[in-house]
Amino acid sequence: MAKNFWDPSKGLYGLFNIWSFRKSGAILASGLGGGSLVYANVVIRKPEKWFFTNQPGGGSQPWPVTRADLDPHYDRVEKMMNAQFYPRGEAPFQDTPKMLAFQEAAAKLGQQWQPVNLAVSFRRKPVRDAPDAANPPLVAAPIEEEHSNIFAMSRSTCRLCGECDIGCNYGSKNTLDFTYLSEAKRLGAKISTLHEVRGFAPDAPNGYKVEYVVHDPELEPGKRDLPLRAVRCKRLVLAAGTLGSTFLLLKNRPHFPALSQELGKRYSTNGDMIAFLVRATQGTGARSRPRILAPAFGPSITGGVEFFNDRDTAFLVEEWGNPYLVSWFVEVSGILGYLRRLLFFAWLNLKYQLGFANDPNISSKLAAVIGDSIASSTSMPVIAMGLEVPAGIMSLNGRYLDIQWSEVPSKFHYDRLTDELKRVAEALGAKYAESPTIKWNFNQFFTAHPLGGCGMGLSKNSAVVDANGEVYHCRILT
Ligand SMILES: Cc1cc2nc3c(=O)[nH]c(=O)nc-3n(C[C@H](O)[C@H](O)[C@H](O)COP(=O)(O)OP(=O)(O)OC[C@H]3O[C@@H](n4cnc5c(N)ncnc54)[C@H](O)[C@@H]3O)c2cc1C
Ligand code: SF4
Repeated sequence: MAKNFWDPSKGLYGLFNIWSFRKSGAILASGLGGGSLVYANVVIRKPEKWFFTNQPGGGSQPWPVTRADLDPHYDRVEKMMNAQFYPRGEAPFQDTPKMLAFQEAAAKLGQQWQPVNLAVSFRRKPVRDAPDAANPPLVAAPIEEEHSNIFAMSRSTCRLCGECDIGCNYGSKNTLDFTYLSEAKRLGAKISTLHEVRGFAPDAPNGYKVEYVVHDPELEPGKRDLPLRAVRCKRLVLAAGTLGSTFLLLKNRPHFPALSQELGKRYSTNGDMIAFLVRATQGTGARSRPRILAPAFGPSITGGVEFFNDRDTAFLVEEWGNPYLVSWFVEVSGILGYLRRLLFFAWLNLKYQLGFANDPNISSKLAAVIGDSIASSTSMPVIAMGLEVPAGIMSLNGRYLDIQWSEVPSKFHYDRLTDELKRVAEALGAKYAESPTIKWNFNQFFTAHPLGGCGMGLSKNSAVVDANGEVYHCRILT
């Protein structure tokens, strides 16, 4: 894991690209497939009633696109990503403890739990419109692909291992490398990894020159200045994510004097909040006993609850899972759990060293050192996201990206969200713990969904891009 971060200047070429600013941070992925490699597979259509932007001074603005405009695109994307519901009515999927617990919590709160579309293969063949008895959900079965994928790799259906957010090693997630990029390659596109764009400018008569460097993990460490290379193109599509695309446009602004003054504005952390439900229980009083949530069983997310009371607060709360790696962090992060294991192991070791124990089979003793792991199996993360006021501003600080963002304009959102998350914890007899990133990391709000910087709108005076995502007066698509 220590090598699994992206910072070529430090010799790191891995997946996770973590950004940290004064009050906010963002978790991104860099690799062939971008964020889809580590995302939680949820592919949902934004409800029409959420098609507006909260304004910093109060009030809201409708979006320049409607749900009806987007629906045909949603249709195509869902088909391409083979999006489907978790097969929650069938064995063994129906016995997913975190999903059942979240459903129960929703019912106790009088809310409606809804399954969410997941870009994960639970069946050997793509899901078509109607249920197909000849294509049942299966665990770890070989996937039948219409065309071979970009890696010519065999893939298997979901194993319910909970590792979606650190990258699926079984090809069960229908990530962009297995879908759009495989298809692009099949249709003749040239795809290059480790190529980092540094700049671009108009190139007369009617195209662009894009400058980039090529990272080489074998040669690069210690080498500071990589040679700049260039490619020319008629059309430029900028798809480096919220931070990457805005950063590139800010850096290259001198070449595009007609760029909107709105560039960098309307940054939002998407109202994201991660919290932990700790040591869930069931039953009351003397009958109270641990409630197993098994956060490492199942895909990261199976469904959620939408809270929408008025136009100012709207959010979606989803149960979240975690890989076993995180369960072990949970087990040893509590000082008591760590000390208990350490002392027990030291005592065991001493007994054997001093010859006070003679049973050579120490299996049961080592099992006792590891313990029942009740803390991690009765705890789980939850993630919420919703409408905040997009009042953050992205700018350049020398050669670096800077973001000024604060939770204060969206205090109403975070307060209400915290209240609801506490109620979810209470419904499961669990303690509520705020995200450690907020609590311990200098009060920083981390997001998995950074948004904004290249806002959409009806004119250059109010936005950077039009309703098609094309940069006003620059003919660049974002
Ligand atoms: C843990 C986690 C869970 C998530 N779960 C979900 C979910 O369930 N559902 C959901 O809808 N969203 C989820 N998201 C968010 C989702 O991953 C992102 O919204 C999405 O990936 C953004 O897509 P994008 O194409 O805009 O940018 P990205 O996916 O970030 O792609 C941008 C690509 O451009 C590359 N790039 C950047 N700068 C340059 C440069 N200068 N030169 C060359 N390449 C460059 C990056 O390395 C990256 O590969 C999650 C994110 C995380 C981190
Ligand atoms: S649960 Fe495991 S196998 Fe299934 S999609 Fe997630 S990482 Fe892949």
